[in-house]
Order: sequence, then structure tokens, then C-alpha cells
Amino acid sequence: MDDFTKRYLDGFMSDVIARNPGEKEFHQAVREVAESIAPYITANPYLIDQKILERIAEPERIVIFRVPWTDDTGALHINRGFRVQCNSALGPYKGGIRFHESVNLSIMKFLAFEQTFKNSLTTLPMGGAKGGSDFSPRGKSDAEVMRFCQSFMTELYRHIGQDTDVPAGDIGVGGREIGYLFGQYKRIKCEFTGTLTGKGLAWGGSLLRPEATGYGLCYFAEQMLATRNRSFEGSTVVVSGAGNVAQYAAQKAMRLGAKVVTLSDSDGFIYDPDGLDEEKMAFVFQLKNIRRGRIKEYAAKYPRSTYYPGERPWGIACDIALPCATQNEISLPDAERLIKGGCYCVAEGANMPSTPDAIALFKKEGILYSPGKASNAGGVATSGLEMSQNSIRQHWTAEEVDGHLRRIMSDIHAACIKYGTQEDGTVDYVKGANLAAFIKVAGAMMDQGVV
Ligand code: NDP
Repeated sequence: MDDFTKRYLDGFMSDVIARNPGEKEFHQAVREVAESIAPYITANPYLIDQKILERIAEPERIVIFRVPWTDDTGALHINRGFRVQCNSALGPYKGGIRFHESVNLSIMKFLAFEQTFKNSLTTLPMGGAKGGSDFSPRGKSDAEVMRFCQSFMTELYRHIGQDTDVPAGDIGVGGREIGYLFGQYKRIKCEFTGTLTGKGLAWGGSLLRPEATGYGLCYFAEQMLATRNRSFEGSTVVVSGAGNVAQYAAQKAMRLGAKVVTLSDSDGFIYDPDGLDEEKMAFVFQLKNIRRGRIKEYAAKYPRSTYYPGERPWGIACDIALPCATQNEISLPDAERLIKGGCYCVAEGANMPSTPDAIALFKKEGILYSPGKASNAGGVATSGLEMSQNSIRQHWTAEEVDGHLRRIMSDIHAACIKYGTQEDGTVDYVKGANLAAFIKVAGAMMDQGVV
């Protein structure tokens, strides 16, 4: 990086940090993007004059609201709701809703910022947003979750709409929560529109939307592996998480011939030396999605497996790692353990699961590494397909949706190759994804003037 670019980058980042004090996840996400696109910006000075990156790093709108609700004993609780509408240059805002006790403004802003770039990569007409609350559905009854969702939507409905902002699920928000949120939206607005995605199949949902993020991750990873003449076939795969993304990533990797040996939750991980199979996956789907149990129950059911409380799975020997739980779940020591255990490919299913020093190590060691905004974009892409089906009031078959998903993941991979191939022939997927996404958003912003 030349001196001028370095000065531009330092100046930009110190402004971001000063304007958004204490928001460390947001700083981290912005820095990762800024580092890879700063040389492009300084080579195109109109982008500096037009303050395009500065504008993207300032969300267009942030809504923060009170969410009061009563539990089953009648006791009152107050949570905080958020919607960060980051950028609408490419289309209506689009991005998930997260219900987790860790949710705060920094996490919402980092996710909305990432979503803007991810949605650009999908080539579908979607801007970037994210929302959520510091409410955790874990341990709550269905009735409590419903009352919370209804209270949350009673404020959020003012700020969303099928042509304005279309939320979806994320951590803690699956089919059950989307159902309650949709029901309340419909009741208040008196309209049945595709304002949320991830809906049930009988009422506007798309086939394959639940599977899309995990399946898309594996389609993307397949293409990464092919650049080194490798594949999932015969590989050992370590997966973190046991939620929506992890379940379908594990299922697809297994069906592509890999041995998937771990799953985790925030309490620990299970290691199964024999690998998952269809019957074990069915148990996991039942355990997590119907009974809402904990992953340690897997070890009780399958005695050849072991449960490691309080640990993450990165010390298990593997070829491929698919982090699918949460942000910053692979630290530098975790990255060292992965590499020591033989891992040569890390494809992110979660958003920003690797810390910056872990990513630096992956790059230094020549590990095939893809950032979540590229490899997990299949989820939002299929949400975009759900919006298309809602607009034309049609249902596509699973094969049709899968065909679109494969093509979109393949196009994103091609964009990463186009913009991320280095002089030595290796691919920097971080640079490729950030640059491809930025060029499109920046072009649309230039066309639309200073708004
Ligand atoms: P789920 O709520 O379905 O599952 C999340 C899983 O991660 C659970 O097993 C959960 O364990 C675990 N987890 C959550 N927080 C932590 C933590 N702090 N430490 C350790 N484990 C944790 O969420 P999703 O599968 O939908 O999302 C997972 C990741 O994928 C997130 O980063 C999300 O932003 C990203 N993503 C999701 C998409 C989607 O379509 N759903 C699309 C693109 C990205 P526990 O039960 O103990 O909380």
C-alpha cells in the first residue's frame, strides 16, 4: 500500500472510530472492507471527493425502540429493538433480525454494513439492513416468544414494507419467530404482502429457503476447493453451531461425500469420529428445531461421540472448517490449532466469525479462506428469490430454486476470482468480495446523487 493510500485509510478509520465510539464490531467490519478497497479508491479520486465510503459507513437510518412484554407469570420485561437501514442504493433494504442477549448497536451496525456488500454480491436488487433485539428466545415458552414478537412488530411495522425494507431471520429468529412477526404485521397493516422472508411454505415461503445459507456455503466451498483440485469427497469437516446455517451446511457437506465430525452451541461442542449420517442428522433436526434441546444430548444418544463442555471445535483435526455460529468465534490461537490439525480451507457460514489476526494468519499460511459476505450469501439470495415469487404470486420447484442458488454462488465465486486474483495466481477472497461489491454500490450511489 502506498503512503497516500495509507494516509487515506488511517484518516478514514480514525473518523469512523471517533464518530462511533466503543462500537468495536462495527469498526472491525468497516476496517476489513476499507483495507481491501482503499487502493481502488485512491486510484479513482472522484470516490474520495464524493465521500462514497464515508457515506456507506454512515447508515441511512437507525431506529431504536422499546419492546415491553409480559412473561407467563405476568411479570413485565423491557427489551430494546433495533433496525439499522444501512444503504438502499441497489434496492429496498434487506437483512435479517437477530434475537440474542448480546445484541447491541455495534453488532447491528456491523451486520447491516456487511449486508450491504453481501447483497450487492448476489446481483439481486437489494439494499442492506439488519435488526434485532437483546431478547433471547432460549428457555422461553412459545406464548412468551409470540408476545415478544408481537410487541417488537408493533413498532417495527412503521419502518418496513415490501418496497421499503424486507426483514428475514438470523440468530434466534427461525420459522416460528417469522410466523409470529408476519402475523402481527398482517394484522396491523391489514395486508398480505411479502414484507418478511423465511415464511412458511403454505403462506408465501420459498422452497429451500431454510436450507439456502448452508447449501450455498457448500456450493461456494466446492468451487474454492476446485481451484486446488480438491473436493468435499473424502474430506473431514469441522462445523461450529447447531442452528439453521450449521445444520444444512453439515447436511450438504455430508451429502457431497465429506465426514462431518463436529457441531456446537454456546455451551460446548460434540465430536463424532464416525461422522454424521442421515439418521444422525434427522436426530439433530428433531433435537434443535422441534424439541429446542442442547447439542450435548447428541453425545448421550450416540455414545461413540464425545461432548466437550465450554470449548469450540477448532482443535479437532480436519481438512475443511465451516464456522456457522457467530462473530469472532475463531481467534488467532483457534486459527493456529486449525492449521496445526491439517485444515487447508475455511469457508465462513456465520458473519465475521474469524478475528482479523486469524484472517491474517490464514492468508500468510496460504489457507483457502472466504469471508461470510461471499460464502454465506445464499441465504439472502434465496430470500430475494422468495420476494420474486411473492411479487409474481408463483411458487418455484425446489429444483428451480436450487438451480438459481447454485448459479448465484457460482457468480459470486467468479466475481471473487475476477477482483481478488493476485499476481502470484492465488485468490484473495476478501479483496475480491469487497471490491466487486463496492464497485456496484458506489456506481449506484454516484448515479443517484448526494442523498
Ligand atoms: P441460529 O440461531 O439458528 O443458530 C445459531 C447457532 O450458533 C446456535 O447453535 C447457537 O448456540 C450458536 N451460537 C450463537 N451465539 C453463540 C455464541 N456467542 N457462542 C457460541 N455459539 C453461539 O442462527 P443461524 O444459524 O441462522 O445463524 C448463524 C450465523 O450465520 C450467524 O452469524 C448469522 O448472522 C449467520 N447467517 C445466517 C443466515 C441465515 O439465513 N439464517 C444467513 C447468513 C448468515 P445456542 O443455541 O447456544 O445459542
